[in-house]
Amino acid sequence: MSDNTLPPGSTIGILGGGQLGRMLVLAAARLGYRCHIFEPQIDCPASHVAKHTAANYDDTAALDAFAKAVDVVTLEFENVPIAAVERLAESVPVRPGASALAIAQDRVTEKTFLNQAGIQTAPWAPVESQSDLDAAIQKIGLPGVLKTARLGYDGKGQATVRTVNDADGLYAKLGSVPCVLEGFVDFALEISVIVARGLDGKITCFEPVENIHRDHILHRTLVPARIDASVAQQANEIATRTIEALDYTGLLAVEMFVCRDGRVLVNEMAPRPHNSGHWSIDGAATCQFEQAVRAICGLPLGDTTRISDCEMRNLIGNEVNDWPDILAQPGARLHLYGKAESRPGRKMGHVTVLHNKAQ
Ligand code: AMP
Repeated sequence: MSDNTLPPGSTIGILGGGQLGRMLVLAAARLGYRCHIFEPQIDCPASHVAKHTAANYDDTAALDAFAKAVDVVTLEFENVPIAAVERLAESVPVRPGASALAIAQDRVTEKTFLNQAGIQTAPWAPVESQSDLDAAIQKIGLPGVLKTARLGYDGKGQATVRTVNDADGLYAKLGSVPCVLEGFVDFALEISVIVARGLDGKITCFEPVENIHRDHILHRTLVPARIDASVAQQANEIATRTIEALDYTGLLAVEMFVCRDGRVLVNEMAPRPHNSGHWSIDGAATCQFEQAVRAICGLPLGDTTRISDCEMRNLIGNEVNDWPDILAQPGARLHLYGKAESRPGRKMGHVTVLHNKAQ
């Protein structure tokens, strides 16, 4: 441990108050830390379990008071305005920092950074007008996926382009905002690696897991992923290289495509705990949320070994009503996020089923 270690009893500030923040608070509490969230919405999943500043990210007085009240700041929501993060960083450590966050907030800076670090992505081109889109199609070919550069999630802000006709007026349909066109990857499967880097520069990866999406939203995560050892090694090397190149302290999720020829391409990264790491709460020696706490507080990183094969399933919208059946199922671990209202597409909770046959 270093002189910069924040011992248990310290207060962790968290930007954002969704379910990721809630689970971060629960893990931090187990290690004896206090948490304080900064989140504009008054009633949010993390507000039920932590102290809460309900203010907008441009409220400088609220940001300054928050910085005074906490010992370190992290985030569970990557679209926090950079100006807010920079203001906090003047008086309190923010981990991960503003520069990594700025890279991850924009698909153009993200892909440029990855490619410069020698990490492969799908072929892509920036698009800032309809004529850029037409030129990008000439360069990359079809099919492709047009995505807004900023603020997209769960398939929002993206459209598949199968034919030249699909591209007609598509730039305006996505809001006439900066975009990227990506070549469509005919992947064998999708995986992700959650990697952490401590204050001392040590790095640990959770094993790659397999992600199955439904309606562009993560539906299930399978652990272990159905991949060869060589693919798993490639994936861990990519995640390690990414977190090192970012000079990052904290937890990072890297989403990847496994191509049919065994190549691994990065789709995107998230500078925070990730839905595909929820299995680790019940299935690993250390969970992703505890690992995030360890990384940002300067504690030694934990053991990421899988203790049980498992499958995590999201409870989306009304699926949350299945909770009595899930509770009755042996080996099923239920996690509910305390959201008052279920809406289609809204993540309400998840269930992890342990298969109890670790390697
Ligand atoms: P994203 O918002 O970039 O994570 O995309 C959401 C999902 O859309 C991914 O998890 C994939 O299932 C699919 N997708 C995104 N980009 C591509 C691509 N270039 N090729 C094929 N599928 C994609």
